[in-house]
Amino acid sequence: MVEKYFLEYCKIRDNIDLKISEILSFYKGDILCKKGCSGCCMAITLFPVEFFAIKQETDKGSLKTLLSPSFTLDSKNTKQNQDCIFLEKSICTIYESRPIICRTQGLPLFYFSDTLEDYTISFCDKNFTSCREDFEFNTEYSIDLDKLNSSLYKLNKEFMKEINLENNMDKRIQISLLLSNNNTSASASDKIDYKSPSLYFNE
Ligand code: SF4
Repeated sequence: MVEKYFLEYCKIRDNIDLKISEILSFYKGDILCKKGCSGCCMAITLFPVEFFAIKQETDKGSLKTLLSPSFTLDSKNTKQNQDCIFLEKSICTIYESRPIICRTQGLPLFYFSDTLEDYTISFCDKNFTSCREDFEFNTEYSIDLDKLNSSLYKLNKEFMKEINLENNMDKRIQISLLLSNNNTSASASDKIDYKSPSLYFNE
């Protein structure tokens, strides 16, 4: 029953949305992210659990369809540093279902150094432009990136175990594959023959 993992994913996403609205209200006026600004919208990769949850939600194809023999990789949409395939005229076409990373981009994100001795808060430099020099961030109103990543990683780990792919725990899937469908014109090397979900992973 993979659906329970998708529900869990939605819970994580709902909590993040809640946190984001608190942050936006706390830093009212200093966060200038708005519709039409797409500077963060690069081709990204997703944990399989997030990929499949979004795939189901956007109803571009069921899990069964996704895993069909004709599922094809469109390599032109998989290059790094390329605009996201879902960006149209600087607007996200899957906004309601967009991945969690898209929701948090540009906001204050804090994460600890490898030694855990100090932490960094990063944010988009288009935000907080009118703050005083001695402005200090409040970690309570920032996204705890380590905590978020670890909950997604843990959920993905359980999901991969469920579908018997625990050895592929660190594999990620290109967001562009959410749109992939039958494409007989693709070159042989782009074509994915269905054997297992692992065929969708990037090396
Ligand atoms: S899914 Fe939407 S918000 Fe995320 S990178 Fe693509 S266009 Fe941007």
